Amino acid sequence: MRIAILGCGQLARMMALAGWARGHRFSFLAEPGEDPAPVEGLGEVVVAEPNLSPELLYRALGRPEVITPEREQLSAELLNGLAQLAPVYPDGRALTLTQHRAREKTFINEQGFATAPWQAVDPHTDLDALGDLLGWPLFIKSCEDGYDGLNQWRLDGPGKAPKLNPDIEYIAEGGVAFERELSLVAVRGTDGSVACYPLTENRHQGGVLQSSLAPAPSLPEGLQAKAEQMAHTLMAELNYLGVLTLELFLVEEQLLVNELAPRVHNSGHWTQSGADTCQFENHLRAITGLPLGATRALAPSAMVNLLGVTPPAPELCPGAKVHWYNKGVRPGRKVGHINLNDANEHSVRASVDRLVDALYGNA
Ligand code: AMP
Repeated sequence: MRIAILGCGQLARMMALAGWARGHRFSFLAEPGEDPAPVEGLGEVVVAEPNLSPELLYRALGRPEVITPEREQLSAELLNGLAQLAPVYPDGRALTLTQHRAREKTFINEQGFATAPWQAVDPHTDLDALGDLLGWPLFIKSCEDGYDGLNQWRLDGPGKAPKLNPDIEYIAEGGVAFERELSLVAVRGTDGSVACYPLTENRHQGGVLQSSLAPAPSLPEGLQAKAEQMAHTLMAELNYLGVLTLELFLVEEQLLVNELAPRVHNSGHWTQSGADTCQFENHLRAITGLPLGATRALAPSAMVNLLGVTPPAPELCPGAKVHWYNKGVRPGRKVGHINLNDANEHSVRASVDRLVDALYGNA
């Protein structure tokens, strides 16, 4: 099939690499000035000039049979315009909800699922009083355009309020003393069937994912089923198609939803060598109407992000599978990742710690 991906970064690259193996052809949408190097050689790249109508864009993308977004920050107008010409999965409703933190959290709470305590704030809000109410540390996050720790502040106590921009919407969240951060990568197909990968344990540095371990070791009994139930409910309510990722906090055996990502996810990269069917193939299966592939973990697996660094010497990490995104290396920039598999969770965790220490010195 001819598939257009709205984006041209590493997720687009990995979707296309998985799709080429199945005979699909791709085109990509780049923002003006965006470097399309990750998808170089994988299909036509169209630049989203502001004067392009949906019809012209659709034609420039090669009249795709299906369209899929790589990121959530796309305009509803663009998504709805394209949806008149070809199916867009996941659709404009899912993206409009998940691109705005207040809308997203309202939706999650309405479905009966817990989040950190939160409230919309503006430059007039007394953040010191709110911190006492919601709990310190207080996290201030912009509603839109905030990811990987961007547009966020962590206030550890009163008297530290940042200057908020009156033109931007924000929420404040009470700090959650989580034991672990987990994620669930789930996929829903055209027949409404849902498949979920094992819960993944994620470690962040400065708000950015540094490593993942899957299946997450030693989870409380029934937690996987609880997470899957959440995914079923959220996806059915949205009539969702494709991969949806739930970013979760584990607190006293309960799951709080931190965020939803309407796409393949960094914490699912381990599936490329650790699961029956990788997340990229399953997303493509879902949006092209094929039955979903099995999501079982084949072995204890891990992923370490390459953030502004090149891969270490091979002898440091035998068996490491390096995925390079064809991007220039800049401090902190996601330029690749390494997947690891091992016989048991202890040895795979030890390999992750060794690798993280070698790359960043903070294992
Ligand atoms: P986010 O951009 O919302 O995914 O936040 C990035 C990271 O900041 C999360 O993965 C957590 O490590 C941390 N974080 C965000 N919100 C909270 C919170 N309410 N309580 C504790 N940690 C948080």
